[in-house]
Amino acid sequence: MKVYFLGTGTSQGIPIIGSDHEVCKSTDFKDKRLRVSAWISWEDHSYVIDCGPDFRQQMLVSNCRKIDGILFTHEHADHTAGLDDIRPFNYKQGEIPIYAHKRVLANIEKRFDYIFETVNKYPGSPSVKTIEICNDIPFSIGNKMAVPITVMHGSLQVFGFRIDDFAYLTDVKTIEEAEIEKLKNLKVLVVNALREEPHNTHFNLQEALDFIALLKPEKAYLTHISHMLGFHEEVQKRMPENVFLAYDNLEITI
Ligand SMILES: [Zn+2]
Repeated sequence: MKVYFLGTGTSQGIPIIGSDHEVCKSTDFKDKRLRVSAWISWEDHSYVIDCGPDFRQQMLVSNCRKIDGILFTHEHADHTAGLDDIRPFNYKQGEIPIYAHKRVLANIEKRFDYIFETVNKYPGSPSVKTIEICNDIPFSIGNKMAVPITVMHGSLQVFGFRIDDFAYLTDVKTIEEAEIEKLKNLKVLVVNALREEPHNTHFNLQEALDFIALLKPEKAYLTHISHMLGFHEEVQKRMPENVFLAYDNLEITI
């Protein structure tokens, strides 16, 4: 399975519009982070996790040619705002399945009401097939099973996903013991680490490192990163040997 990091930034992306922060002005390509998203593919299967406002650019840069489905972690705009741009895939493939919690599907129907219009739907609008994900019920994507993992983003429930020995968690602040049990024996864990300072709804760097130390995956990649975390190259030097800062367009094979 290949995992391609389409975006590794927090909600505003890096650089932030109009910012004079040194990380926003960095010329290192690893310090430029689009909104968080990942593309997973194996054999002829291809799925994207989240569909934020940078989706179009991410599809162009990664040269993704087909999407068998989009897995949504939650409804926040940095994870959903790009949904209108699935149209090129619709025109080639037809309806695209979207997998999400019932609450998230309802929210997407509100944000993108025209997609769900049954009378006089504008021709050429996106077309999706909604598939509800329930906690504790693994669901099939292609010939693999995805295990939903409930994490808490402050008081908001968010889904992470485990597929074989790979798990992808974003926007985590807390996680219950029963969900941690689902994350044992991972080869690769992707998890959010916003910045050094604590935050109400996101792991900071230390919380992410403590979580990685608890789960002991072979390797861990940090994502959903703010400019406040610092320069990629400098922060990477301080990481334990199995922990890596993800960066946009990084591709790993599991
Ligand atoms: Zn987010």
